[in-house]
Amino acid sequence: MRSAVILAGGSGRRMGSDTPKQFLLLAKKPLIWYAVRAFSDSLVDEIVLVTREEDREFCRKEICEKYGFGKVKAVVPGGSERFYSVENGLKAVNPACETVVIHDGARPLVTPDMISRVIADAERYGAATAAMPVKDTIKIVDHEGFGRETPDRRTLYQIQTPQAFSLPVLMQAFRKRQETGETDITDDTMMVERYMGVSAKMTEGSYRNIKVTTPEDLLAAELFLSMKPQSDEV
Ligand code: C5P
Repeated sequence: MRSAVILAGGSGRRMGSDTPKQFLLLAKKPLIWYAVRAFSDSLVDEIVLVTREEDREFCRKEICEKYGFGKVKAVVPGGSERFYSVENGLKAVNPACETVVIHDGARPLVTPDMISRVIADAERYGAATAAMPVKDTIKIVDHEGFGRETPDRRTLYQIQTPQAFSLPVLMQAFRKRQETGETDITDDTMMVERYMGVSAKMTEGSYRNIKVTTPEDLLAAELFLSMKPQSDEV
C-alpha cells in the first residue's frame, strides 16, 4: 500500500497576503487543489492532508468535499516547523502502508508521472526525491558575503518534492531525530541521510515543478499550467 502526505500547514508569510497561500486562486482553483488532484490521479491509495488547525474545516469542505477527492482520508493539523507537520501526517497514515510520498502542497505542477517515478525509485533504493541539476554556479559564502568555494556544478542538484520513502525507514528516522532534539531539518531526504545513513536517489523532477512562495511564483505557475504538459520536462 502507498500513502501520500501533502503539506499545507505553512503560514505563507512571504506571499504577503491575508489568505493563506495554499488557498490563493491559481487559474480559478485554490493552489492546494492541483497537488491533491495529481495525487488523486496517481497510484497512491490514500492521501493525508496537513493544514493549519484553523484551516482544517475549510479544507475538508471547500477542497475535499467540493471537488470529490475521495482518496483524502484525513485532514490533520500541522506543526510549527515543516518536519513537525510531516510527523503529524505520518501518524495518520494507514499502518499497512509500505511506501509513503511526502509533497509540498505549494508545488502545483507535480504530475502523476513524476509521482510514479519517485515511488519506483524509492521502492528500489529505499528513498527517492524529485530533483533537477542546478543551472547556475553555486557558491559557498562566508559570513561577510564573500564567495569562498565553488563546488563542481555537475555534483549539484536542486531538491524538490515529491519525495518517497520506505515508511518504516522514515518513521525510524523521525524517532532518532526526536532523541537528538535536532531541529535544523529542511526536508525528509535529510532525515534518512542523517539518522539512517540512507541516500536518496535523484529522480527526474521538472524545472516547472516550482514551490510557490512569493507573488511572482504564482504568475510563473499560472504560465506553466497554461503550457503544453511536460514538453520541457528535462
Ligand atoms: O515553508 P516552505 O515553503 O518550505 O514550506 C514547504 C511546504 O511545507 C509548504 O507546502 C508548506 O505549507 C508546508 N509547511 C507545513 N508546516 C510548516 C511549514 C511548512 O506544512 N510548519
